[in-house]
Amino acid sequence: MTMQHQQTLKSSVSLKGIGLHTGKIVNLVIHPARPNVGIHFVRTDLPGRPEIAALYRNVVCTRLATTLGRGDVKISTVEHLLAAFQGLGIDNAIVEVDGPELPILDGSSAPFVEAIDSIGVFGQAVVRPVLALRRKVELKVGEKWAVAEPSSRLEVHGSFEWDHPAIGYQEFYFREGQTDFREIAAARTFCMLRDVENMKKVGLALGGSLDNAVVMDESGVLNPGGLRYPNELARHKVLDALGDFKLAGIGMRAFIRMHRSGHELHGQLVEAIFKDPNNYEIIGGVREEVRTAPIAALAQRLVASVS
Ligand SMILES: [Zn+2]
Repeated sequence: MTMQHQQTLKSSVSLKGIGLHTGKIVNLVIHPARPNVGIHFVRTDLPGRPEIAALYRNVVCTRLATTLGRGDVKISTVEHLLAAFQGLGIDNAIVEVDGPELPILDGSSAPFVEAIDSIGVFGQAVVRPVLALRRKVELKVGEKWAVAEPSSRLEVHGSFEWDHPAIGYQEFYFREGQTDFREIAAARTFCMLRDVENMKKVGLALGGSLDNAVVMDESGVLNPGGLRYPNELARHKVLDALGDFKLAGIGMRAFIRMHRSGHELHGQLVEAIFKDPNNYEIIGGVREEVRTAPIAALAQRLVASVS
């Protein structure tokens, strides 16, 4: 694939919805940002408006969702928005949030895609830096595995096997430039009813409902409308992976196959790739200090409006 230009949003866009864990309304504003800024989250509800860069080294928890943190400041459930950014080719954005987690919305990336589509994407006159994988990197954790191999573009093949009447074996193959992200954007997150009930007992998933997840019991799907696709779970796994790979902070050229993967495995794979510089080459490189700039400097890089 030829080099592509960086992109941001044409203007700011707002969304609001319930937080999965707190059950409280969260307001989100996505602002355009200048080239090489990357993706940054800002907690507007905390003194000093602390900021966290969407980079894999800032991941502090991968249980249930991907959580970023810096000191005491945390921002959770970032993966579905990051997946929308990855899928629509957004490189630079400042995301303001007035709570500890992003709104869960319908449990998919579709509402984020709709919001971005409603204002449009703006091409920037700077090349997008890309990590090109140079050799095979693989991980195996019990029954879960992930294999990354060199490719001319980002390809993700996700498969899943679960002995459940609504799941069985399923797979989905995403190929950048050929698969429209909108084919997976609406695939929702999955959970078992008993897990939701147990989480609620310990004060988690207070906002969890049939409106923001596919909820299953032993015999099937409880949501009145059923599944959106027969392989909705595999599509959602690929969606989650695209979001988690966005935490590399740059584009990726690799063919990644994964089975029974989750946020933890996705993060470990990105880490394993970065661990050895012989694994990859960065094309059209961006200076590290640009991506780790403090928010005071970032504010100057915010694009008030681009048209
Ligand atoms: Zn997810």
